[in-house]
Parts: sequence; structure tokens; C-alpha cells
Amino acid sequence: MKRTKIGELLADERRGVQMKVAGWVRTRRDSKGGFSFVEINDGSCLANLQVIAPAALPNYEAEILKLHPGASVAVEGTLEASLGGGQAVEVKAQKVKVLGFSPPVEYPLGKQKINFDRLRELPHLRARTNSFGAVARVRNTLAQGVHQFFHDRGFLYVHTPIITSSDCEGAGEMFQVTTLDPEAPPRSKDGRVDYTQDFFGRRASLTVSGQLEGEAYACALGDIYTFGPTFRAENSNTRRHLSEFWMIEPEMAFADLNEDAELAEDFLRHLFKVVLEQCGEDLRFFDQRIQPGLLARLERLAEAPFGRVTYTEAVQSLEASGQTFEFAPFWGMDMQSEHERYLAEEVFKGPVVVTDYPEAIKAFYMRRNADGKTVAAMDVLLPEVGEIIGGSQREERLEVLEAAMRKGGMNLEEYGPYLDLRRYGSVPHAGFGLGFERLVQFCTGMRNIRDVIPYPRAPRMC
Ligand code: ATP
Ligand code: MN
Repeated sequence: MKRTKIGELLADERRGVQMKVAGWVRTRRDSKGGFSFVEINDGSCLANLQVIAPAALPNYEAEILKLHPGASVAVEGTLEASLGGGQAVEVKAQKVKVLGFSPPVEYPLGKQKINFDRLRELPHLRARTNSFGAVARVRNTLAQGVHQFFHDRGFLYVHTPIITSSDCEGAGEMFQVTTLDPEAPPRSKDGRVDYTQDFFGRRASLTVSGQLEGEAYACALGDIYTFGPTFRAENSNTRRHLSEFWMIEPEMAFADLNEDAELAEDFLRHLFKVVLEQCGEDLRFFDQRIQPGLLARLERLAEAPFGRVTYTEAVQSLEASGQTFEFAPFWGMDMQSEHERYLAEEVFKGPVVVTDYPEAIKAFYMRRNADGKTVAAMDVLLPEVGEIIGGSQREERLEVLEAAMRKGGMNLEEYGPYLDLRRYGSVPHAGFGLGFERLVQFCTGMRNIRDVIPYPRAPRMC
């Protein structure tokens, strides 16, 4: 018989039908009435299935009474209305096959409470807990929602490289990729490591962004997006930074900053709706156990328009707030998380798009504004997580871009292909990057970003 997933079984309205289910034991209780209750979970939904195992089963004493949390079983039986409270249906077993036992003393996810810090040391087992199972399902739904959104709007999914020899931001913080012997790398006459002998014949790293390649494809195909892993070797031990995270980067030809901001807004609202529609059970769990108020907030944000403010206005309102910040706000500062959150949580009470940042704190490729001081950049800020999206209209004017790069001390020769896009049929274009884990964090209310990716990579954590 083919196995039915528990999520599907619980929604089945038939009674008395034969079913086969399989999963991991969460609890077992033995009743004096000659049977045991075995709760199993198979990951298809948050809820467990209650299995009634009668003492008359041939392996009752030898095996069923030895079932402990973590053991795996396959059960055949009939789907019945449940007499006990707590669940509508249960399966009355005719056969319980033990697939794998679980020694009670060793299994770390037994009955005792276990906190998220300890679970981070058990990434191979934590998906079996309610919280991490729910995170995995929400993460999956959001990923599908991302593809759906762009597919419906005619954006092409482009796979940009993970190994790269260019640094998108024009700054360090990249993980190096090399096959040279770290103990004895070949050296050129001046004593420096000779990367011409390295695997790629030059220095290579893991990408920090697919944007530069994404721009090339947008400037040929119109609207594109990337969705892939990105790597940052920055030593930020915060609850919103990972060393390896997934980024979604749409790029649109023939679009300006305003259209970019509209896309970001539609995109986020779409994802809030999708997760509300498809992950109700998991979101209720997060709302009850992780972050009270989460559901109501998502419902509100799925409909509400985002706030819009320029950087200059935002700094003015921070200065005028009377609030004491750890870093006192001033025009020209790079906004800190505390400022971002204050704007989203207190001033706008919801998502806000901040535009037109000072040129000095933003990347070289952002389009210079007419005021000579700011660039056509935008960040989308959310309550709780702060910055979730960073984007801009790109500088499409060749001379202006070259001047900005020279001013930043960049070597123009390394950016030949990027400059070519401005040399041959340059068009206005814009895009943004959304950190996928920050989105999952926001939708689940999980406090630490390390708990919304299956195997977190962070400083000293791999
Ligand atoms: P922050 O200021 O929060 O460190 P950033 O300005 O360096 O972020 P961008 O280069 O603009 O980030 O990247 C685009 C998006 O990628 C950010 O808005 C954020 O959602 C996400 N992101 C950036 N760095 C990280 C990280 N280390 N871990 C997880 N997500 C990140
Ligand atoms: Mn940013």
C-alpha cells in the first residue's frame, strides 16, 4: 500500500478506510484498556497523528512497548473518528512495523525541554522539532512564492555564478576560492602569492551578489531575477547576519527607482499573502509560541501600502525624535539597525522604503542624483528585522559611472564587461537584493537568523 502523508490524512473526511502512514514517534502512552497511543509526526504538517496500537498486535510487547521518541514506524490501519479530545481523527493500527528504534537515554530530543542554542549544535536533528519543521515548511512556501511572483510577471530566472573573480561592492569581505597549497603557495619575484598558478589563473572568491551578471542579462532580456546563495566574510555576530545566505535579486531594464520600489512593495505583500494562505497552521504555532501578534501583523502588512521617505527626511525625523540612540543620528551616517527599526516600528508603524541616500555610503553603481550629494538608492525596512531589501537605480551613463569609479579608486580595467553595458545600448535599469533568511525570520518571528536556515554558517560556525 502507498503511504499517505499525515497532512493529507488529517484533511481526509472519509472514515473506516484503510491507510498506511509512516513517521517518527513523538510520544507513547500505554492505557490499561489494552492498547497504546503512539503519536507520530512525518513532517508534512505540524500536527501529530494519533495511532491506537492494540495489545493484540503480535509485536506489542516485544516492540511497541519499546517505542520511544525518535523511533521510526510504518503503520497500516483504518482512519477513524477520534473519541478523545485533541484530535478529530486517529488511525487504528492493524500492523505497526518498527523501522528504527531510538534508545531513550541517548536521543537528545526526548521529553526534556531543549533551547534553540543547544539545537543549533544539532542541525541534523532539529528539523524533527515543531519549531524547525514549521520553519522549513514556511521557508519552502516562501521560496515557491518567490518563483511564482516573478514567473507570473514574465521575469526570467537567471542562474548567476557562485564562484567569481569580481567583487560586486568594490570592497573586501569575500571568501577566497583556491586550490593552492596554503602552506606553500607559489610566489612571484616580489614575494606575493602568484595567483596565475591558481586553479582559475587568477584570484577567485565566492560571490557576494549576482547583481553584476544579473544586470547583463536584464540588459538583454528585460526583466530577470536570481535566487541563489551569497557569501559574506564579514565578522558580524548579530542575530540578522549569516556568512552564507540566500539572496533574491530582480533586475529590470527600462525601469527607474520608483518602479523598483513598487516592485519591492508588491513582492513583499505577495509573499505575506502566500504564507498566510498556505501556512496557517505553522503561523498559528509561531504566533502562540514564538512571537505573539505575528499573525495579526502579517495580515495587516499584506494589505497596507508601505511608507515612503527620503534618507534626508528620515534622518531629520530621527534627530527630532527625542529618542536616545546608541549612535546619534546625523546626515551622512550609515543607518544602524536601531535607526532602521525605530523608523519602521515607531515612525511608520510598518514597512517603509527609504530612498536617496548619500553617495558616500552607497555602492559605486548607484545612479547619481541631480543634487550632487545623493544617489537613487532605496532600502526597505521592516519592523523587527530592519533592512530587508537594498536596491537602486543603476548608473547607466558611462562617463558618470567611470568618474564615480575613479573617485572610489577602482581599477576600471577589471570592470570592462560592466562598462560595456553602458557603452553598447545603455538603458535605465534598476533592481534590488532581498535577503531570503531575513524574510523567513520576519514571517516566522524567529529571533535568530541562524534558526531559519537548515545549516547556518556564521563566524566560528560551520
Ligand atoms: P546590512 O546593512 O543589514 O548588513 P547590507 O546593506 O550589507 O546589509 P546588501 O548588500 O544591501 O546588505 O544586501 C541586500 C540584502 O541582503 C539586505 O537587505 C539583507 O536583506 C540581506 N543581507 C545582507 N547581508 C546579509 C547577511 N550577512 N546575512 C543575511 N542577510 C543579509
Ligand atoms: Mn543594504
